[in-house]
Amino acid sequence: NKTIILNSRPIGKPQLSDFKLVEEEMPKITEGEILLKAKFVSVDPYLRGRMSDAKSYVPPFELQKLMGSGLVAEVTESQNEKFKVGDFVSGALNWKEFQVSTGENLLKIDDSVAPLSNYLGVLGMTGLTAYFGLTEIGKPQKGETIVVSGAAGAVGSIVGQIGKIMGCRVVGIAGSDEKVDLLKSKIGFDEAINYNTTEDMTNAIAEACPNGVDVYFDNVGGEISDAVHANINRLGRVINCGAISAYNDTSVLTGPRVEYFLIKKSALMQGFIVSNYAEKFPEGIKHLSKWLSEGKLTSTETIVEGFENIPQAFIDLFDGKNNGKMIVKI
Ligand code: NDP
Repeated sequence: NKTIILNSRPIGKPQLSDFKLVEEEMPKITEGEILLKAKFVSVDPYLRGRMSDAKSYVPPFELQKLMGSGLVAEVTESQNEKFKVGDFVSGALNWKEFQVSTGENLLKIDDSVAPLSNYLGVLGMTGLTAYFGLTEIGKPQKGETIVVSGAAGAVGSIVGQIGKIMGCRVVGIAGSDEKVDLLKSKIGFDEAINYNTTEDMTNAIAEACPNGVDVYFDNVGGEISDAVHANINRLGRVINCGAISAYNDTSVLTGPRVEYFLIKKSALMQGFIVSNYAEKFPEGIKHLSKWLSEGKLTSTETIVEGFENIPQAFIDLFDGKNNGKMIVKI
């Protein structure tokens, strides 16, 4: 049975040597337990934080111990009356091909409603992050302009589509021409900017947003955000969802240039963790599933195959190799 453990804590960008594939004996279940076979594994930028030994909202992984993330798994043996062989579940699980569970905190999912991988993306933490960050903090009004950084990624591509459903002009920022094309031609963004080839981002955002920026959904932080902040409208809302540009930084971080926007524009800036809205998750899932079934929301996924490729798929997030949600199929 293959498993992946944290071999060393990364300094800067994670390396393959920070992970270790370890074979163990096949686990056995006892009364009340189920045996799960991993089907899809989510790799997410926040796992970078858990690889460091720093206090955060989720505890760090321990050295030489198992790593984990959101998984979709199939029940292959059951001694628990709530689960039968062939059921599919999603939840926070370990990076193991097969693992034993009591079933606690696992959600039963239905592959006739949506493809199983969607429960790690649009119908999972990703979709909920996009939905609650945008609606609860951004509160976009019809006709307003929303800018999304990390726009072609998992959360960003859904934020843009929800923005369109809410009747807004939506402008995305992403790292390649291919992503810019995808955002405009398939995902429905009104405009998109390649931050890697644009010299003056502040000006490019001003051109793409003739009425200024009312809502900024920020997945990346850093200089890209400085350029968006400089274009924020009076009473604008900045949603701090993520700051991936800083996750591998070993220097002391500098803050946003508040004088440009927070003060002069009376703008609001608020961070959040998706679990803040846990009580409302059913409401979020209801909206996301409805939009998905109506074809108003499309799910973009980059699927990498093979358990042993989980570390590389994770590292590739920091090189922007994914379109939409990065998922490993086992
Ligand atoms: P993504 O699918 O967006 O993958 C990461 C993307 O980030 C890459 O594809 C890449 O796209 C971009 N990127 C990588 N390095 C940089 C950089 N230095 N500068 C700018 N962009 C970069 O991941 P998710 O959608 O899962 O997550 C997006 C953000 O949301 C992350 O910051 C994550 O931590 C955060 N998050 C926060 C949650 C919360 O509860 N607050 C929950 C879930 C996610 P490109 O090619 O465009 O550079």
